[in-house]
Amino acid sequence: MPSSRSALDRTGRVAIGSIAVAAAVLGLKYAAYLTTGSVALYSDALESIVNVLTGMVALAAILVSARPPDKNHPFGHTKAEYVSAVIEGALIIVASLLIFREAYEALIEPRPLKDVAQGLGLNGLATALNGLWSWFLISRGRAWRSPALAADGWHLLTDVATSIGVFVGFALAAVTGWTILDPVIAIAVAINILWAGYRITLSSMSGLMDESVDAEIQERIRHAIKASGEGALEAHDIRTRRAARATFIEFHLVVPGAMTVEAAHAICDRLEAALEAEIEGSEVVIHVEPEHKAKRKGALRL
Ligand code: ZN
Ligand code: ZN
Repeated sequence: MPSSRSALDRTGRVAIGSIAVAAAVLGLKYAAYLTTGSVALYSDALESIVNVLTGMVALAAILVSARPPDKNHPFGHTKAEYVSAVIEGALIIVASLLIFREAYEALIEPRPLKDVAQGLGLNGLATALNGLWSWFLISRGRAWRSPALAADGWHLLTDVATSIGVFVGFALAAVTGWTILDPVIAIAVAINILWAGYRITLSSMSGLMDESVDAEIQERIRHAIKASGEGALEAHDIRTRRAARATFIEFHLVVPGAMTVEAAHAICDRLEAALEAEIEGSEVVIHVEPEHKAKRKGALRL
């Protein structure tokens, strides 16, 4: 894969950018919490600590997953990204538990809110910064097929959504003097964070469990085999799995039993080239069989 080195450079740069943005957002949101004493703003700030930590985990994973295949890891190191996303999910769940605890204390002993306007200004600025960065991460994560990057982006986007809710709720609590609203908002934020952690963990798990590529890509694979399989009789047992940027494709190719190895190998090379051109980052393994191995059901006629 000739692009792996440049992929390291750009995703590595993005990961460093994420850490810098998260640190700036953390500073602003924590200042908003210290200014106001609001548990809701505390919950918002705590998410940013998670972002700084997971940014570092993600950077480490990107550095590992960009390493080319070696003797001990002949399929490459791309699954490190899924491991990073699972750790991120776990950290998000821990953050939600910390917020539950703080909110519980504030529920028992309500705290007065101070310097509301200043707190709102600091928190709003941080949220705008996060919004811009999450949009950037999601679009890059999709374009580069990096689940860790996309997971970071989606997580940040849930921050933005909840931050807007926190912003409005905190303003309401301050204006009405109904301080119980403050820990109630924090609990709502914690539930939301818990849900995001669950989703990120689950989607990374399916990557670790070798889930097939989605139906649209499977159809493109079948189409490419059909278009370039001239000379062979059929293809069957097509199996796919994905590890971040890499897509592994394997199948059985039935050829006339009397065909020379030379000719069968030429068909295989043609199919491999066609698939690698159609599916970016694909690695193809073909098992050649004589015609009596042909299947009646589920085979792709060529
Ligand atoms: Zn077979
Ligand atoms: Zn060969």
